[in-house]
Amino acid sequence: MRTDVVVVGGGTAGNVVAARLVEAGASVVVCEAGPDYGALDEGRWPSELLDATTLPTSHDWGFTGESADGRTLEFDRAKVIGGCSSHNGSTMSIGWSGDYASLPPGWSVDALRPAVDRAIERTRVHVPGEDDIQPFQRAFLDACASLGVMRTDDLLDPKGGVGVSLSPVNVVDGKRWNTAIAYLDPVRQSSGLRVIDRCLVDRVECVGGRVVGVHTLVDGRPLRIGTDLVVLAAGTYGTPAILLRSGLGPASDLRSVGVDVVVDLAGVGRLVQDQPVLRLEFASTALLDRELAAFAAWRGFLPEEQTVAKLASSTANAPFDTHVFPWIEPAEEGTWRCVVPIGLLRPDSFGSVRLADSDPTSAPVIDHRYLSTASDVERLVEFVPWVRELVHTDALRGYVGPAQRFPEDEPQRWAMRHHVHYWHPTGGAGLGDPDDEFTVCDARARVLGVEGLVVADASLFPRVPRATTALPVTAIGEHVATKLTG
Ligand SMILES: Cc1cc2nc3c(=O)[nH]c(=O)nc-3n(C[C@H](O)[C@H](O)[C@H](O)COP(=O)(O)OP(=O)(O)OC[C@H]3O[C@@H](n4cnc5c(N)ncnc54)[C@H](O)[C@@H]3O)c2cc1C
Repeated sequence: MRTDVVVVGGGTAGNVVAARLVEAGASVVVCEAGPDYGALDEGRWPSELLDATTLPTSHDWGFTGESADGRTLEFDRAKVIGGCSSHNGSTMSIGWSGDYASLPPGWSVDALRPAVDRAIERTRVHVPGEDDIQPFQRAFLDACASLGVMRTDDLLDPKGGVGVSLSPVNVVDGKRWNTAIAYLDPVRQSSGLRVIDRCLVDRVECVGGRVVGVHTLVDGRPLRIGTDLVVLAAGTYGTPAILLRSGLGPASDLRSVGVDVVVDLAGVGRLVQDQPVLRLEFASTALLDRELAAFAAWRGFLPEEQTVAKLASSTANAPFDTHVFPWIEPAEEGTWRCVVPIGLLRPDSFGSVRLADSDPTSAPVIDHRYLSTASDVERLVEFVPWVRELVHTDALRGYVGPAQRFPEDEPQRWAMRHHVHYWHPTGGAGLGDPDDEFTVCDARARVLGVEGLVVADASLFPRVPRATTALPVTAIGEHVATKLTG
């Protein structure tokens, strides 16, 4: 088989690139390891992937790794067309302009603005109406205001700062508007698009410094696709693993798993980050349970997550560096649990993605080195007393019962033993100055040392932006597509 372009990974960004290339007249094959449920109007999408009120747990890659104290953490990643946009929380935020200013020329927020705007339009991002705010989330907005954190609704403004916002969402009629629906559906009838699902990409084949094809396993059977252009969009864990299996990575890492070195690229699988989170939990009161039931009966839906507070720690060096993003989740017999997580958005800790072996069916070895700097620990626990104060405000007191998971003393130690993460891993194939040791991709997102190989996903961020990452990654898809078609 031969095609103009192979897009590896029909995920959040991959579908954007694929659709834009098809619109520009290219013939594109999308290789997606998970199933493709076709266009939305064919009615084959599983309801749990469409239901935006809660997070589904199906279609997961099953990746795991270690917490700061050696516990096993699950690193949820969707193995399905749409990638993580098919199972995420649907909160859309852009982060802070300064984080983009540190990217190579052409990646500032001003340069990205057209891409961000197109991503917002295509994924139908909007702020829910005031009537759609459920009682716990409404009380959170009021509680923040009573502590001086005012309503700003600026999660899409890269110049925004401290404040509390109703989350913009990519949800249409209660459905999670993933990038397969938003981008692939309009071009599904085009002869330029072919989606091969259940297609696990092993490696990219390079000859004489140029891409010549992609080696895959389709339902376990080998398939080689010839092409001059490959766009890697397999995500922060998938893209570095494919680069490494292709012989593109740190020479010592490659030799240790028996892979021949094609290009010695020290940065592949490095500068990998994730945002650590403290999940503080409280019982709900009978009053909250009653009001949630009444809301669900009135509106016909009950979103679990709707608001985000942006806060600045005392050493933030930026307008904000922390999210507090409350949600409710079902507990026993019609009751709810109130979860008030604190997330550190721009940690200083960096980790890695490596190969366990050269088998494409083996999971990569993911080590985020969470909380490996003292400053990350201090910044993560700084708002624990603030959350205690918050749940005792007039607005929340009647809704929030006893603490079920909360550091009563030694919060630093508690953080090491109980932290989780915010599901926003980045890095592993970072953009940067080609002269920098850990740069993998130049300003046009081209992998250094190979012609015809481009990256378009969350692995391009050499540092995690202080955002939830779905919108930035969708915009990356738009931006890279412009570079390829322009
Ligand atoms: C549970 C959860 C909740 C989240 N909530 C939010 C939120 O509310 N707001 C927000 O902004 N962000 C959220 N995120 C993060 C956000 O969704 C991700 O950062 C973003 O979607 C990543 O996009 P990507 O294109 O880099 O990778 P993905 O969307 O993961 O796409 C990668 C695709 O490549 C495929 N793939 C991987 N390896 C291979 C291979 N070898 N061969 C073939 N295909 C392969 C995968 O199956 C997948 O479809 C959440 C993430 C999770 C997991």
